[in-house]
Amino acid sequence: MLNVAVIGSGTMGNGIAHVFAQYGFPVTLIDINQAALDKAILTITKNLDRQVSKGSLTEDDKTATLGRLRPSTSLAEGVREAGLVVEAATENITIKLDLFRQLDELTPAECILASNTSSISITKIAAATKRPDKVIGMHFMNPVPVMKLVEVIRGYATSDEVTQQIMELSRQLQKVPTEVNDYPGFVANRILMPMINEAIYSLFEGVAGVEEIDTVMKLGMAHPMGPLQLADFIGLDVCLAILRVLHEGLGNPKYAPCPLLVNMVMAGRLGVKSGEGFYTYTPGSKELVVAPRFAK
Ligand code: NAD
Repeated sequence: MLNVAVIGSGTMGNGIAHVFAQYGFPVTLIDINQAALDKAILTITKNLDRQVSKGSLTEDDKTATLGRLRPSTSLAEGVREAGLVVEAATENITIKLDLFRQLDELTPAECILASNTSSISITKIAAATKRPDKVIGMHFMNPVPVMKLVEVIRGYATSDEVTQQIMELSRQLQKVPTEVNDYPGFVANRILMPMINEAIYSLFEGVAGVEEIDTVMKLGMAHPMGPLQLADFIGLDVCLAILRVLHEGLGNPKYAPCPLLVNMVMAGRLGVKSGEGFYTYTPGSKELVVAPRFAK
């Protein structure tokens, strides 16, 4: 079985490690922060418990899954025998370019280097290595154990063979891979972020209040969550950063982030993670406690 190394054990990294281990792959989960690794193992255990209690996994499967997971704080040691690396470290271009330069030196020559980035160019990341044909985007959705989609992003130089391998591996994780090309925002965020931005503009211009905007999109368009609440879950700082990538990368003013979004991020109102965004949340939980603070 292919050895997998997952880099970054935050929100996405723990979910990615969870699904690879659940479907039989030995996984080394790597983070520079031991506390993040400890938290990730706790989260994975809790999520596996939930699968057992729902009857979708046996107690033995849970034990076997945990047995295939190995946390590590050493990049060199953790990727030495990897056949696939999935990088899910902090969304920061300097961190990612530095990681891929190191991975190129530290991994076996045939190892595929994938990134879970939401918005950074795969072509740019690939150019930091001497194996751009083996660098690819493997964009999982949050929460990873639940969401079916993997957006498979081909960089300028990604080979057909590597693309097919990643499509097949995604299917082995019971996901539905979808191949897209490497342009700003790929497909998921190219479409989602302008919708969120437009929802924020509708609020900013007084077209409707928070609850009204979200209700229209939930009940009218059958979205499970309104765009403003979804923005709170994603993180308003993350939404802003992705809109800036679209704006700069595509050079079209239609992607300019709404000034209200910019102000909220400057004020530290980042959504669920800071306890307040368009809605207010209980500290340390995802529960909505107070009605929207931007009434009509
Ligand atoms: P996060 O902040 O929850 O976790 C990032 C982790 O990376 C942290 O634990 C941090 O300690 C670790 N890290 C930072 N630098 C590192 C390094 N050099 N080596 C090893 N570990 C390092 O972030 P996240 O939300 O899990 O996002 C990770 C990636 O996934 C980003 O590229 C993001 O764009 C992408 N993504 C996020 C979501 C989402 O909904 N959160 C969805 C899809 C894709």
